[in-house]
Amino acid sequence: MPLGFLKSVRDQAPRPANTGKSGAGGGEEQSLPERASVLSDIETLGIGMFWATDAQGRLSFLSQRALEDLGFTAEDLVGKPVTQVFRDVDPEPGAPLQRAFGFKIKAHSRIEEHVVAVSADKAGKAGCATRWWRLNGRAMTDAAGNFLGYRGSAVDITSQYAHEMQVARQSQIDELTGLANRRKLGERLAATLAAFRASQRSCALMMLDLDRFKHVNDTMGHPAGDELLKQVADRLKNIVRDLGEVGRLGGDEFQVLLPDMDDRGTLGELANRIVQSLSQPYQINGRRAIIGTSVGIAIAPYDGVTAAELTHAADMALYAAKETRSGIFCFFTNELREAATKTARLGERLRDAVDQGQLNLAYQPLVDPATNEVRCFEALLRWHDGEEGAISPADFIPIAENDDLILRIGEMALRQACTDAMQWPETIRVAVNVSAKQFVRPGFVKTVAGALQASGLASSRLELEITESVFVGDLEAVDAIFRDLKKLGVRFALDDFGTGYSSLAYLKNGHFDKLKIDQSFVRGCTENGDINPAIITAIVALAKALGMETVAEGVEAMDELELVRQRGADLVQGYVYSPAISQEQVKIALADGTMKVTPSGPPRYRAERITIFRKVGLIHEDHYYDVILRNLSKTGARINGLAGVPIGTDVVLDLGHGQLVVSRVVNATENSQGLKFETPLISDGSGGFMTRHRISPYALAEAGIPLAALGAGAFPLAKWREGHKSPPKFVQLDLSV
Ligand code: C2E
Ligand code: CA
Ligand code: CA
Repeated sequence: MPLGFLKSVRDQAPRPANTGKSGAGGGEEQSLPERASVLSDIETLGIGMFWATDAQGRLSFLSQRALEDLGFTAEDLVGKPVTQVFRDVDPEPGAPLQRAFGFKIKAHSRIEEHVVAVSADKAGKAGCATRWWRLNGRAMTDAAGNFLGYRGSAVDITSQYAHEMQVARQSQIDELTGLANRRKLGERLAATLAAFRASQRSCALMMLDLDRFKHVNDTMGHPAGDELLKQVADRLKNIVRDLGEVGRLGGDEFQVLLPDMDDRGTLGELANRIVQSLSQPYQINGRRAIIGTSVGIAIAPYDGVTAAELTHAADMALYAAKETRSGIFCFFTNELREAATKTARLGERLRDAVDQGQLNLAYQPLVDPATNEVRCFEALLRWHDGEEGAISPADFIPIAENDDLILRIGEMALRQACTDAMQWPETIRVAVNVSAKQFVRPGFVKTVAGALQASGLASSRLELEITESVFVGDLEAVDAIFRDLKKLGVRFALDDFGTGYSSLAYLKNGHFDKLKIDQSFVRGCTENGDINPAIITAIVALAKALGMETVAEGVEAMDELELVRQRGADLVQGYVYSPAISQEQVKIALADGTMKVTPSGPPRYRAERITIFRKVGLIHEDHYYDVILRNLSKTGARINGLAGVPIGTDVVLDLGHGQLVVSRVVNATENSQGLKFETPLISDGSGGFMTRHRISPYALAEAGIPLAALGAGAFPLAKWREGHKSPPKFVQLDLSV
């Protein structure tokens, strides 16, 4: 190694000693001319160069070779302050930190492996007029300890250094997509938040995770996966543009940093656009692939003030988005924190429940509305947990989907449903829900074949209910699974139609025998001005044209039943006929070979509001009252707990976590008031409502609530109560009953 060799030269050069060219050792002093020739060889071979200064720190010597290399003569440089000739390099990102060269020279410190910039008169090999040298050197003193100057060596590391800097720069960039990488994003987020904290600005962080990317990678190969990631990156950049910075954290995880953004309405729209855009089909080497995306959003300073806090909050929101249903976005809320721990606990208990056979099936009839005769039963999982009571499959299926538990549960449901159906008349089918994750796992076709064989059920009596979310990933692989199952003779129903990615292209491939119109189109379809009846008509017409049966799901009221019957739905499923019942009840009802159900239910659908029973705050003048929120819609709310509030009173509803809603009392009874909001709430992306903006915790801090309270993410305004200035206008009722 030339460098190792130089190190020994460096130590000896100022104090000429045994450089050992001839291998002569034994402390024998070599002649001066010989040493000079060794050093000159080292110089001319380009291994190293030497430099020296006088006691005043001026350059007194520089190797001839070095001078030639820089294009200078000795007169040009000798006599100049050494700190002018050897300059500190501008600290580049990623460059190792070093103390200033000038500082070391002044202090007569030892110079060790110190990188300096040297100006050259002519551009060198690297094509630039600046060279980078690595210096070593030592202060020389006389016998009395007086400083005489430096003696040192130097190596030109220009080409190596330029490369290192390039690597350092590159490590800020994700090579595959050209986006910022994890490291750069982390630095950017930390720097932005630190700066914004001082200036009390907000910053949003979106965390994205592709759904079913792994499936594309596994079935189409890694180069296809890489290509897909590039296309995702392009689409993301196109949407985000200069609103923020897009980066890839690695794998199929992306992040978007959006400075000065705290409008949850705008953020929701942006997230929606991202979800929509990324779930459009991709062309990869002539094949089509579809993936979904889930997005988690957290906003500083509301959800966290440090990079770690905000990242954690966005992660939690992403997790919640994925749990609810892939292909959606979700904002961070404090409830999520609680939900995350609850989910973890539920997961453990679910495993035990499966082991102990505590999950069973209930059957909900699908009825022909013309005759009220039952044609089919849908098998729905039921889990009664000792602690929690009845837990909805909508809550535990997503948990099971996270690991192989869904395979066990799915197989159990299939086998049980087939066995149970064997005890029904042959004219009645059984429908079994199959989650997308279960459907694409290897071995699913075998599982179905096994269940049919074990029970002896005719395959034409088995219907598999599948949602549009199976149409992601490698579509040809998905098609192959459909074909294999069709060969077995089973039927397919497209579940929850109209809620997913909704590309009609899925219908054209002829996989489905039945189309289930999602409950959301049925619910409230009889309300004036509702567009849903038109949608139902269109779906029915489309299904008929493609030779599919239609089912209207979630029919509860008599007027809804009448409407879907009129609009031509072949079958109806909903509480208006029956909820899911046990196998025992099914058998009894079918005792004479058929089953007829008389519909019954409320005559009219009643506009649903989110019914809640939650303690919130109400601010009027300088008073803070506790009230109970009874229901909440986008435009208003009903509250309990205050008496004597006249119509027309302006109040501010405190929904918690900085969500203040300016409202007016529009109707009132003795202890209950209806509020109309000045600005409507917006959807939180998962069925609830939230305010577009929140009151910044900084503003709250100014109002006397310390920023330290930020950590928990809750900023109650309760403190307002302490500063009563005038007697309260309204009577606070006791809320404990
Ligand atoms: P789904 O497949 O859409 O099932 C219909 C859901 O709507 C059932 O909820 C049913 O009880 C409910 N429902 C039926 N009629 C009405 C009505 O008139 N009004 C209202 N409000 N709801 C009605 P459930 O049993 O809680 O199941 C929820 C979801 O869990 C199912 O939605 C399905 O996606 C999933 N699931 C249930 N069983 C299984 C299973 O064995 N395997 C898989 N993979 N998923 C299952
Ligand atoms: Ca279903
Ligand atoms: Ca459904």
